[in-house]
Amino acid sequence: MELIFLGTGGGRVNLIKQVRGTGGFRINSRSANIHVDPGPGALLHSIKNRQDPLELDCVIVTHNHTDHVNDAGVMIEGMTRYSLKKRGIVIGSAITINGSEDRDRGLTRWHQSKASEVYAAKFGEKKKFATEKGSFDIEIFGLKHDEPSTFGFKLTIDNVVVGYITDTELMEDLGKNFSGCDVLIINCIKPEHDEYEGHLKTEDVIEIVKEAKPKTCVISHMGIKMLRAGPNLEAERIEKGSGIRTVAAKDGMKLVF
Ligand SMILES: [Zn+2]
Ligand SMILES: [Zn+2]
Repeated sequence: MELIFLGTGGGRVNLIKQVRGTGGFRINSRSANIHVDPGPGALLHSIKNRQDPLELDCVIVTHNHTDHVNDAGVMIEGMTRYSLKKRGIVIGSAITINGSEDRDRGLTRWHQSKASEVYAAKFGEKKKFATEKGSFDIEIFGLKHDEPSTFGFKLTIDNVVVGYITDTELMEDLGKNFSGCDVLIINCIKPEHDEYEGHLKTEDVIEIVKEAKPKTCVISHMGIKMLRAGPNLEAERIEKGSGIRTVAAKDGMKLVF
């Protein structure tokens, strides 16, 4: 199993200025290739990093914010072989898939109709998905973010457990819920507390990984303040504070498990 980071920037400045990219990351494994949170640039960075969208088996969108959903439609057009073949799995937050009373859905019904299977993620649910090459299991966890259906997940594929804590505030049971991961990816947008709510800071990540105890922690989705503080220094702080090996993701970085 390998992870490829196609965009490690977060926050409103990175979204527009692309200091760091916003393409999300890709999981490549024997049983499935999965693109997670394809924000703006996901398609271009996939091609630049030789990650063929035609070879995708699944697209996951953790919430309906532009920096996570923008390129999802076009990645689905790739997954469905130029939209000509009904195939692949789409997993999205409920609002990404269905919208809500006051919010448009993030993925058009036309794009959804191209996939073989569409799943609006339900908090607390465990699901198994079959692909053309095998299968994977996913467990859905509700998070606390401005988009109320935002979810994190633990995904088991080819005996590797990948955890992903996307945009969220600190919640009491995060550490417990995300225990047992070989690798836990956490969106750590800022080094210190600031006036904006809905995101994790370095200190929060220390608290989470102390309890979750993944074999490796990867921080990503870093905002401008994080980039100024130095992602490697912040990763070191997390490693020292928690005793867990921690890596700061870089655009184009590949990790093999
Ligand atoms: Zn975000
Ligand atoms: Zn968000």
